[in-house]
Amino acid sequence: MKLINCKWQQLILSLGCLLLILACNSFYPSTNQDAKFLKVATDPTFIPFEIQTASGKLEGFDIDLMNAIAQIAGFRVKFENLPFDGMISTLQAKTVDAAINGITITAERLKTIAFSRPYFKAGLAIAVRQDNHNIKDFNTLQGKKIAVQIGSTGADFAKTIPNARISTFNSGPEFFQDLLNGNVDAVVSDAFATLYAIKNGKLKGIKVVADLLTQEYYGIATPKDSPYLNTINKAIATLLSNGTYKQIYQKWFNAEPLQLPES
Ligand code: GLN
Repeated sequence: MKLINCKWQQLILSLGCLLLILACNSFYPSTNQDAKFLKVATDPTFIPFEIQTASGKLEGFDIDLMNAIAQIAGFRVKFENLPFDGMISTLQAKTVDAAINGITITAERLKTIAFSRPYFKAGLAIAVRQDNHNIKDFNTLQGKKIAVQIGSTGADFAKTIPNARISTFNSGPEFFQDLLNGNVDAVVSDAFATLYAIKNGKLKGIKVVADLLTQEYYGIATPKDSPYLNTINKAIATLLSNGTYKQIYQKWFNAEPLQLPES
């Protein structure tokens, strides 16, 4: 009898411990220590959206935004450096969970990958050497030598300019150098990145001409049917309404953020 009692006591004690463990786990679902790591691709040549400091640290508008999203959504971010040109195919292959790189949401890209809600209003601009007074708009770009970034919306746009001779490059620093060297007449690329570089003295001897050529929106790109897209979208909405987005925008652009559509 005594022996049976002892076994029952042991069983009840074990069940009690199990219940206690389960209860604790549901009260504290995950600390940040064991939160999931999201692999996020980026190309740190798209300044000031992504910058790699001399010590190798990543910073920039996109980096701040992605970290703020992760904090709200309860995951951690592991950034992976990848050339911009390879971003879409890497997402298709699902070897990363997302990419943030000032990536414009386009109908063409939406055929193979998914995008979050727009997080930045952007557009393409023409950049020329300071002493160039002939190139002013789309029409005056005709027949000119133009540098663009491989795989970018700027490269797609340049294809529509009649008789343009197009040179392609991997990143901003390279095509601007080609413009300064006098090898091309103009660059067609993202206006905010160019304007930032000019304003911060990183691009001497170059100016941006006339109005923007296009109106574009950047989104965080993910593979199609990503399980994280909904969480990312909700976090962007929170950052837009709680003032964090505005803070990050002002930190990098020293201006009021532009209105964004929901989709
Ligand atoms: N916004 C442009 C595009 O999506 C360029 C982005 C970039 O160079 N990182 O094509």
